[in-house]
Amino acid sequence: MPGKTRQHISQNEPLLFEISSPGKRGYQLPDLDVPQVDPAEALGAANARQEIEHFPEVSELEIIRHFTRLSTWNYAIDLGMFPLGSCTMKYNPRVNEQVARTEGLLWAHPYQPASVSQGAMEIMSQLESALAEITGMDAVTLEPAAGAHGELTGVLLIRALLEHRGKARKKIIIPDSAHGTNPATAAMVGYSVTNLKSNAEGTIDLAELARLVDDETAALMVTNPNTVGIFEKDIVKATEIMHSKGALVYMDGANMNALVGLARPGDFGIDVMHLNLHKTFSTPHGGGGPGSGAVAVKKHLEPFLPVPRLKRVKDMFEFDYDRPLSIGKVRAFYGNYGVLIRALAYIMAHGGPGLRVATLDALLNANYIRKGLENHYDMPFTSPSMHECVFSHDRQEAKGVRTGDIAKRLIDYGFHPYTVSFPMIVHGAIMIEPTETEGKQELDLFIQAMIDIANEIDTSPKLVLDAPHCTRTPRVDEVGAARKPVLRWKP
Ligand SMILES: *Cc1c(COP(=O)(O)O)cnc(C)c1O
Repeated sequence: MPGKTRQHISQNEPLLFEISSPGKRGYQLPDLDVPQVDPAEALGAANARQEIEHFPEVSELEIIRHFTRLSTWNYAIDLGMFPLGSCTMKYNPRVNEQVARTEGLLWAHPYQPASVSQGAMEIMSQLESALAEITGMDAVTLEPAAGAHGELTGVLLIRALLEHRGKARKKIIIPDSAHGTNPATAAMVGYSVTNLKSNAEGTIDLAELARLVDDETAALMVTNPNTVGIFEKDIVKATEIMHSKGALVYMDGANMNALVGLARPGDFGIDVMHLNLHKTFSTPHGGGGPGSGAVAVKKHLEPFLPVPRLKRVKDMFEFDYDRPLSIGKVRAFYGNYGVLIRALAYIMAHGGPGLRVATLDALLNANYIRKGLENHYDMPFTSPSMHECVFSHDRQEAKGVRTGDIAKRLIDYGFHPYTVSFPMIVHGAIMIEPTETEGKQELDLFIQAMIDIANEIDTSPKLVLDAPHCTRTPRVDEVGAARKPVLRWKP
C-alpha cells in the first residue's frame, strides 16, 4: 500500500456514493417538446417515484468504469479453477450462450400464444426427453427453479401419491451425510426427519435402514454418489427395502456429473429425483442467479407433476392444464427458460458418447487430485472416489490450522477455495470437485498449491492462519458478518 495516496486504479474502488457529485447525469436527453406533466398527477401518486436521499449522481463513463473495476474483483470460472465440492463449477461452453441469444428465443414472451411458440416448446420437449433418457426415468418437469426447489417439488409429489393411496405418512429417512436442503425440504412438506447414520465407509447402513423404515415412512432421500463422493453400492437393496414397505425413494441428483452416461437412477430403483441443470449441464451458476432443478419421475408419479404439462396434439405442442391430480404450479410460467436452452445446447453439443466421456474425465480428474494429495492430507474413507474427493484437516489441526485457514490461504495462490466443513460427517472436511473441464496443467497447479500450503503449515503455520494476504481486505470477522450484518450505507 503506497502510503496514504490512493492508487488511480486499485482494489480500493470507492463507493458510488463517494464518487457522486450533484447534478451529474448518466444520460443526455433532448429538450422536452411536449407539454410537461406532473408524474404524480399522470400516474397516480403511488406510482410516481419520490426523490431518493443521497442517490448517487455520476456520469456514464464513471459508472461503466466503476462496475468494470468491481467485476475484476470477482473470482470466476472464466479466470481459473473453482474446486468447490458438491457445486460442479464447470466451464460454460460459449456455444450455450450463443444459442441462448438466438433472437427468436431471446425475445420470446411467456404470454405469447402457443401457435407462435412451437419452436420454444419443442426445445422444452427435447430437453425433457433427453433428461428422461439420461436418468432412466419416465417423465420430466422443467418448472422448478433450482435444486432445492426440485426437492420441494419431488417431495410434494411423493406426498400427493401417498395421499392418493390413502395416507401421507409421517417421516422421511435422510442419511447424516446429506446436503442441508434435504431435511429442510422434508420439514417444509410437513414430514419429520429420521437421521440415518452412515457406516464406517461413509455409505448407507442397510441394517440400520431396515430397522428405521416402518408404515409411517414416506421416503428415503438419498444422494448418489453421496456427498463424500462415494457411489452407494447398496442402492438397489436400499430401494427394495423402501419399496417393500410401500415407501418411495427420492434421489438428490446434484452429483449426476458422476453418473451421466454411466448409470441411470431409474435403473437402480429411484422413484423421483432432481437434476441441477446449472451444475451437471453446465449453465452458469454462483451468485444466486437463475438455475433449474428439473424433476424426473417414474410413471406412478407422473399424474401429480406440476401444471402445465407439454402435450403434443397431432403436430402441435400445447400446454395441458387439465390434470386433476397435479400438485399445481410451483413456479410462474415454465421454468427458467434461458437455463433450459443452455442445458439442451450442452447436451446436443456433446451427444450421448460425448456426455459419457465428460463423466469419465470428471472421475479421472477427481482421482488425479486424490492421488496427488493423499500423502499430504488425511482421507477419512478408503472407497474409490467418484467425481469429488474429501479430505479432513486432522493432520493440520495438530499444528492449529483448520480447513477454513487452508481455504483462505488457497486464495493467495490464485484459486477459489474448496468446500469447507461439508459434509458434516467428516471432521474438518476439505471437499474438492475439479470437474472434467480442467486440464492437467491447472490440476497440477492446484495440487502443488495444496502441497505448498501443507508444507507451510509444518514450517510457518502463522502464514496460513493469517491468510489471505493478497486480497483487498484481510481476513474478515465471519461470525460478526453473519450475526451483525451491516447492509445499509450511512453517509
Ligand atoms: C447444490 C446442491 C443442492 C441444492 O441445489 P441448489 O440448486 O443450490 O438449490 C442439494 N443437494 C446437493 C448435494 C447439492 O450439491
